[in-house]
Amino acid sequence: NTMLAEEAAIMQAPAGLKARLMANENPFGPSAAAKKAIIDSLDTGYQYTFASMFTMRGKIATYEGVKGTNILMSSGSSPLLQAAAMYYSKGGKSIITADPSYDDLPTQAEHFDGKWVKVPLTADYKLDLDAIEAKVDGNTGLVYICNPNNPTATIVDTEKLKGFCERVSKKTVVLVDEAYIDYLPDPKASSMMDCIKAGHNVIIARTFSKLYGFAGLRFGYMVGQPDTLKALGAYTPAWACLSSTALAAAIASYRETDYLADALKKTNASKEFLYETLKKENYTYIPSSANFVMFQLKMDAKKFSEEMNKRGVALRDWKLNGQDWCRISIGRMDEMEAFAAAFKEIS
Ligand code: PLP
Repeated sequence: NTMLAEEAAIMQAPAGLKARLMANENPFGPSAAAKKAIIDSLDTGYQYTFASMFTMRGKIATYEGVKGTNILMSSGSSPLLQAAAMYYSKGGKSIITADPSYDDLPTQAEHFDGKWVKVPLTADYKLDLDAIEAKVDGNTGLVYICNPNNPTATIVDTEKLKGFCERVSKKTVVLVDEAYIDYLPDPKASSMMDCIKAGHNVIIARTFSKLYGFAGLRFGYMVGQPDTLKALGAYTPAWACLSSTALAAAIASYRETDYLADALKKTNASKEFLYETLKKENYTYIPSSANFVMFQLKMDAKKFSEEMNKRGVALRDWKLNGQDWCRISIGRMDEMEAFAAAFKEIS
């Protein structure tokens, strides 16, 4: 389980962590408006959240050009991914994913008798859409596409993915996890939202845990066909997972363009610093379209992360094609500097 690995990474680090770079969080959030809204919401914390759920759902619907019935919200995207895992793996159906990709949904599916079909990435670490499409058969319950992909931070061509979604969704449901889409230069242009508007059997998962900085506050949603979301709703008490504080914060910061642009700018500056650090030491990295970077190690990955942990830097070790890699999240500049100092000592 990815979350347990991230927990483990931080548990190993000594007290006085200098750089928290293991969970793809955004230390530049949440926004000032979100924080103020939380304080202001406390007096009505005794009320159920019907009104604010309606408000938030309306905001998303207006911005995306869909109906309220196309949206299912919860406390982050994880409860919704779990609902999809349960529903679409029923009766031993298979879940097709790239390998490696974000493994939460297929791991959950295996707990419910689902089969996990893994499709290797291309040589340049991208999702191999042709190979994924070729794997779809009568037993496929769901195809999971993570774009940008975690852990490689690579993206696939938008038009190619649209064609894929249109064809494959005629045979099975396609879930596109757009957790990191806000890090792209034009998220709207790269999204698969048009496929849903055209009536295709596509689900999009979004989260505020990344650029909005809500990993602890918790807000996320799915967009899909109303019947699909109704079916998934039977597998999660989605609305009951949402607190009034998280909703107030989400309403206050949704599409807050200045905040989002600023957080993106700071992330990109820290990412550039990381690229320079890796280049200086002659390390190979995968160019990143998200708030984390994969780079290849010259030593055992576990040993590397343990040594970094001892120096107060928490990050993730990875095996990719049998080789040793590190996934490092992009943090504040002082965190990237702490990484660079520790890295110099052991690289
Ligand atoms: N999807 C992807 C691709 C992720 O990387 C993550 C978390 O790291 C999630 C979904 C789940 O995030 P949350 O439950 O915080 O929305």
